[in-house]
Amino acid sequence: MRFATVIRHDDVSAQTKQQIMQVLIQHGWLYDEKTPDFVISIGGDGTMLEAFQQYQAILATVKFIAIHTGSLGFYTDWKIEELDELLTAMVAEEYTTVGFPVLAIELDGECGPCSYLALNELTISDPAKTLKIEVQIDGEHFETFRGTGLCVSTPSGSTGYNKSLGGALIHPRVEAFQMTEIASINNKVYRTIGSPMIFYKKQYIDLHVEYSNSVTVTYDHLVHDCLAVTTIRCHLHEYKAQFARFKKRPFWERVNNSFI
Ligand code: NAP
Ligand code: MN
Repeated sequence: MRFATVIRHDDVSAQTKQQIMQVLIQHGWLYDEKTPDFVISIGGDGTMLEAFQQYQAILATVKFIAIHTGSLGFYTDWKIEELDELLTAMVAEEYTTVGFPVLAIELDGECGPCSYLALNELTISDPAKTLKIEVQIDGEHFETFRGTGLCVSTPSGSTGYNKSLGGALIHPRVEAFQMTEIASINNKVYRTIGSPMIFYKKQYIDLHVEYSNSVTVTYDHLVHDCLAVTTIRCHLHEYKAQFARFKKRPFWERVNNSFI
């Protein structure tokens, strides 16, 4: 088996990486950053987002494993105290695979067309001036949004930024994506739907920027480096992010452990 690691830059994560390397290499595994079968993220949920962004080109084949070096997170199944248990299971290759839907993003603007994938969400916002966006669903006009911005999240991202915006928590087995508003303006002149909206797998939404000074577009922890964005299309990607599961950690249990 070939494996690679993506680590948060702290001592505990670096030590954990060394321990993992030692055991896996001893058992005949190969460290291969180019075409790994497994990518092990060591850190927090943010580290898992980095791992996802780094290895999105081999999404169809790669399996992620996430270890938390702080408290348990959403993508992270393992604490460092459980490292021996995980390594034993890895060497024995006793796992099942679960797939989490991924958001595909195609955007256009002054810098030309480009595309991204997101494991958590896309946001478009302008904190200084009112952003005016025409929202289309499956090619049909739905509304004209005015406000700070919009967030389009995956089911596994629903517990991230989306939750702070009052979006619904969606079990990652549900093949859907969600749009939530960031401070919409609603008065006698302007009107938006006001509720989070959930779209099914085959749908797509187009966001046409009608007015903005400068839009910031983020995908997961990253920022698109051009402020003059004109259109964004979002839909579910053909591939899911595959996670190797070595023990059960039900989604609602994670939600309960993290928030209740
Ligand atoms: P960060 O500032 O460390 O992330 C903020 C918090 O969100 C951290 O506690 C992070 O966990 C947690 N998180 C990330 N993905 C999550 C998920 N799917 N479910 C539940 N919690 C999650 O920055 P980061 O680590 O680079 O993560 C980027 C993410 O932060 C974005 O994708 C977005 O979801 C979230 N975010 C939230 C807000 C908000 O709620 N107002 C604003 C901006 C960004 P770790 O500490 O384990 O990394
Ligand atoms: Mn973080």
